[in-house]
Order: sequence, then structure tokens, then C-alpha cells
Amino acid sequence: MIYENYKAIQEKINAACERAGRNPEEVTLIAVSKTKPNAMIQELYDQGVRDFGENKVQEMTAKYDALPKDIRWHLIGHLQRNKVKYIVDKAVLIHSVDSFRLAEAINIEARKRNIIADILIEVNVAQEETKFGITTDDVLFMIQEISDKLTNVRVKGLMTIAPYVSDPEENREIFRELKKLSIDIIDKNINNVSCDILSMGMSNDYEVAVEEGATLVRVGTSIFGERNYNV
Ligand SMILES: *Cc1c(COP(=O)(O)O)cnc(C)c1O
Repeated sequence: MIYENYKAIQEKINAACERAGRNPEEVTLIAVSKTKPNAMIQELYDQGVRDFGENKVQEMTAKYDALPKDIRWHLIGHLQRNKVKYIVDKAVLIHSVDSFRLAEAINIEARKRNIIADILIEVNVAQEETKFGITTDDVLFMIQEISDKLTNVRVKGLMTIAPYVSDPEENREIFRELKKLSIDIIDKNINNVSCDILSMGMSNDYEVAVEEGATLVRVGTSIFGERNYNV
């Protein structure tokens, strides 16, 4: 049942790629498994799914310990600097870097372990006050600073969380803007920075996001069903 949902979404992603003239291999569907039990994750894993997303450090590390080691864990939620040490060598990609100080904390922990941590910069394109993420205007400056000063983090791209809207078309302009921003960054040729990854699109709007250039889509509810935060 869960895998049926997953496959149906993958089909829609492929169709969106076709509409946009994109190669479906450019897009990875991340199964956002927050609040969901290990058994559900294992069920997808057994069908070959490897990319999963979690938004809380403690939950991600518990699942990391319990589940197969070749799962690619994406940390997609807000990250506090004092918790970086728990996930820096467990997350394949940290999607939610929204300050230089956080990047600096990741750099310190990555250096201790002699690894390079791959990160995305979270951009609040929609300028929603309730959301994390830096403004579009600040992105270039921050990426330049990371490139100049931090040896053990590597910027791989951008992430945004679009507002919840009833009509996903309302978010098309936001996805377009993130794509445009990534092209500006690529054009600057900043040392050790690539901007090929665009993490955008959720259950409600991933098809529009793929049409506009998403390379990672983060889908939870449409795969696993509604989340219950009270249990
Ligand atoms: C929960 C979450 C998602 C998935 O949201 P759905 O609407 O359930 O698909 C995607 N991105 C982030 C950052 C999330 O926290």
C-alpha cells in the first residue's frame, strides 16, 4: 500500500519531467518518514527505496541506529547548532542551513571527523515570517562567506519550503525564483560551491516543483498518510 503510493508519485514525477522536457533521472523522490514507524520505512526499503527525510535530530538518529546502514538520510528540518554533532556523519545531506553560524558549527564537527558535509541553503523565497530560511537577497553573500572561510562544508544547492496553498499553481513563481537564484549562483563560479541541487516540492505541489526544476522532492503525507502528532 505504501509502496503503491510511492510508485504512483514516481509516475507523476516522470510525467511532470516529460511535460518539462526533463530527464526523470535528474529527480529523486525523498520519502519523508517523520513520525512514521520503522516498519513502514523498512517496507519501502525492501522495495529498493533508499532516500528518506526526517526533520528532527533525535528521531533521525534513532531510526539511523535501527535501520539498514545504506539508507540515505536527509535532514530536512530546522537544525540547532548544539545538535549538529549527532547527525553530521549520519545525514547524507543537510537541507536546512539558514545561517552562517550554523554552517560554521557543521564545519567544526565535520573537521573533527575528517569529513566534508554536504549542505543546502534554505531560502525563504515566499518571505513568510513563520518560516526559517534566509532571504533571497542574503543567499549570495552567505554562500561566498562559506566558500571563503569553511573548509569542511560544501554547498550543493538550495532548498525552500513553499506555503501550504490549495492550488499548487500559486507556488510556481516561488519554485521559479529558487531556480533562477541557483543559476545566478552557478554563474558566479564560487570556489567549491555547486548549485545543481534544488530541494523543493512537497505532497501538495511536487509536480509543479518538478516542472520548474526540482531535483529533490520531499513527500511525506502522500506516501505514508496523514501524520498524527498526538500518539
Ligand atoms: C514534513 C515535511 C515535508 C513533507 O510534507 P508533506 O506535505 O507531508 O509531503 C517536506 N519538507 C519538510 C521540510 C517537512 O518538514
